[in-house]
Amino acid sequence: MRVLDLIRKKRDAGEMTRAEIEYLVSGFTREEFPDYQMAAWLMAVFLNGMSRAEIAALTDVMLRSGEVVDFSGLPAKKVDKHSTGGVGDKTSLVLAPVVAAGGLLVPMISGRGLGHSGGTLDKLESIPGFNVNLSLDEFRRVLEKCGCALIGQTPEIAPADKRIYALRDVTGTVENRPLICASIMSKKLAEGIDALVLDVKTGSGAFMKRQEDSVALAELMVETGTRMGKKVVALITDMNQPLGCKVGNALEVQECIEVMLGGGPQDLRALCDELAGWMLLLGGRVATLEEGKGMAGEMIASGKALEKFREIVHLQGGDVSVVDHPEKLPQAQHHAEVPSPAAGFVAGIDCEQVGVASLILGGGRERKEDTIDPAVGLMVHKKLGDAVKKGETLCTIHYNAGARLAEASERILSSYRIESQAPPLPPLIYRVIGV
Ligand code: URA
Repeated sequence: MRVLDLIRKKRDAGEMTRAEIEYLVSGFTREEFPDYQMAAWLMAVFLNGMSRAEIAALTDVMLRSGEVVDFSGLPAKKVDKHSTGGVGDKTSLVLAPVVAAGGLLVPMISGRGLGHSGGTLDKLESIPGFNVNLSLDEFRRVLEKCGCALIGQTPEIAPADKRIYALRDVTGTVENRPLICASIMSKKLAEGIDALVLDVKTGSGAFMKRQEDSVALAELMVETGTRMGKKVVALITDMNQPLGCKVGNALEVQECIEVMLGGGPQDLRALCDELAGWMLLLGGRVATLEEGKGMAGEMIASGKALEKFREIVHLQGGDVSVVDHPEKLPQAQHHAEVPSPAAGFVAGIDCEQVGVASLILGGGRERKEDTIDPAVGLMVHKKLGDAVKKGETLCTIHYNAGARLAEASERILSSYRIESQAPPLPPLIYRVIGV
């Protein structure tokens, strides 16, 4: 086989065989041919698409480019959740302890913030001492001890994705359904899970703004996972406003602790119950979704979820005292209010801009090498449909010296649309795919 022939084949919209995909992806991962050839092939895929069989083959080859973790000897079913990313999207920090407390194993390999969206690893690292860089052996030990573990991608997991993703990032080939599907599913299926719940976001703060695009991606991922023998469902969930009220790393950890104490914002709690319910159902702990949601609620009400969270924090080297004293999490030195320019109702929020505001305060990265300020972020006081008086605070900015406060404030202000009528509210969950 010759790489050039494979590039030509995709350029001419041909369907590649599994052997051809394997030759290409494995060779690239072993650095046997240059970036520009892979980039040309990726662009050909971007322009001409892939068949279902090609997507399944690509996912499988990427998955097998590294180690496929074998947790089959462990006594309970292994279940995970993956979100396509959003603003204030912090459910992983609640789901892992809730579902582990419910008797399943949750081996969670998570990511960092991407663009305007936050990342679970950055949030966890706002807990002093918390180590997300465990080896696979340490990952297994923590999982065996407490039923869940939360780490970043290790060098052994889907190395092909790591190389290909870096190239996609700089060649305009990220926003492509077959490539996104193979990238996400290869990493998740390498975790050695039995079942996966996908939270596919849609709306102004999601990467896929249009519901039909989110649905198409969800269908592709569910089909790919199911072909590989896993139980997979996808929930299409709303991202037209931040989830919960807190956006920013330490602030989001604090909000998750509030949820595990039985409080927290209603939308965040409802989505956690729903996703945990599905995880418990797919993992066979309950017979219906309602029972799953009930079990999730019990884990929170009984304090077992919070106890499990304490255990994870302890086993991964973090300062457990933050659970009872969230004020020990990093705190910003300054606060500034963003007042409403008019009276009325919040009729729209450009949620991506809210995410960007948090990012430019230091809560995310503008360049790969940027360091995160865990303390900064936003407290959103007014959400869709809320009545607001002129001058009333829409959002409080938590910032540190040197932050681009004026720009963040301007972005938040212009992201709000205030109208005289209350708008119809979007549902939290639009559809469930895969059942
Ligand atoms: N997240 C991933 O892991 N891969 C993609 O391609 C897009 C989002």
